Amino acid sequence: QDVAYRVTVSPVAGPGAAALTFEDVTEAEQMGQMRRDFVANVSHELRTPLTALLGFIETLRGAARDDAAARDRFLAIMEREAERMNRLIRDLLHLSRVESEERVRPTDRVDIAALLASALALLRPLAEAQNVTLTTTGLDGPLPVPGDADQITQVLTNLIENAVKYGGAGGKVTIRLSREALPRGPGLRIDVIDTGEGIESQHLPRLTERFYRVDGHRSREKGGTGLGLAIVKHIVNRHRGRMRIESEKGKGSVFTVVLPEA
Ligand code: ADP
Repeated sequence: QDVAYRVTVSPVAGPGAAALTFEDVTEAEQMGQMRRDFVANVSHELRTPLTALLGFIETLRGAARDDAAARDRFLAIMEREAERMNRLIRDLLHLSRVESEERVRPTDRVDIAALLASALALLRPLAEAQNVTLTTTGLDGPLPVPGDADQITQVLTNLIENAVKYGGAGGKVTIRLSREALPRGPGLRIDVIDTGEGIESQHLPRLTERFYRVDGHRSREKGGTGLGLAIVKHIVNRHRGRMRIESEKGKGSVFTVVLPEA
C-alpha cells in the first residue's frame, strides 16, 4: 500500500526558525474515496426505485389509463418501490445516528432476554411465512447489560431477520445466549445461527461494509438495503462489544455478538 505525506513548512517564533509538519494523507484520501463511493451508492439505490416510479406514473397517465387490471398491478409495483425507498432512508438515518454517536458509553441497563423476546414476537410472522423455525437456547433472563434498548433491539432484529431471509425456507434459526469474557470484563454472548445458504469465506471480511452484498439482486428481492450489518457493527462498537461471523457455503452461518455486562 502506498503511503502519501503532505509536508508543510510553517514559520515559528525565533530567527530563521521553521517547523516541518508531515501529515499522512493516505487515510484522508481513503476517507474521501469512501465518502464518494457512499454518495454514489446512495444515489444509485434511490434512483432505481425512483426511475421505476416515474416510469409507471407515465404509463398510468397513458397506455394503462383505462385498463383497471393493469392499473392495480402497476400501483402494487409502485407501492413496493416506494416502500423500498422508505426502508433505505430509514436505514440511512439509523446508520448516520449510530455512526455519529460512536464510543458513547450507554448508561441505561437493558435486559437482553426481554429485548430478545419482543424482537422474536415481531419476527415470528416473517419466519412462519418462510416456514422457518425460531428457537432460543442457553441462559434464561433477566440478563442486564449497559445499553441502548432501541439499538440493541435493532442488532437482534437485523441479525435474526437476515438469518430468516437467507436461512432458506424450511430452515432453522437458533438464538443462543451464553457468557464469554471480554478483555475488560464479563460479556454476554448472543449467537444467531442459521442452517441456510452460508457465505463464501472471501466475502466475510467485507459483509459489514455499507452496501456490500453477496448477491445484490437477491438482497433487493428480499427487501434488503445492504445497510443492516453496517448498522449492527456500529452499534456493537458503540457498546464496546465484539462481533464475529462464521459461515460455510451450503451449511449456514453464525453471527456472534458479545456485549460487556458491566
Ligand atoms: P441486506 O439488507 O442486503 O440483507 P445486510 O447488511 O444485512 O444487508 O447484509 C449484507 C449481505 O450479507 C446480504 O446481502 C447477504 O448477502 C449477506 N448475509 C447477511 N446475513 C446472512 C446470512 N445469515 N446468511 C447468508 N448471507 C447473509
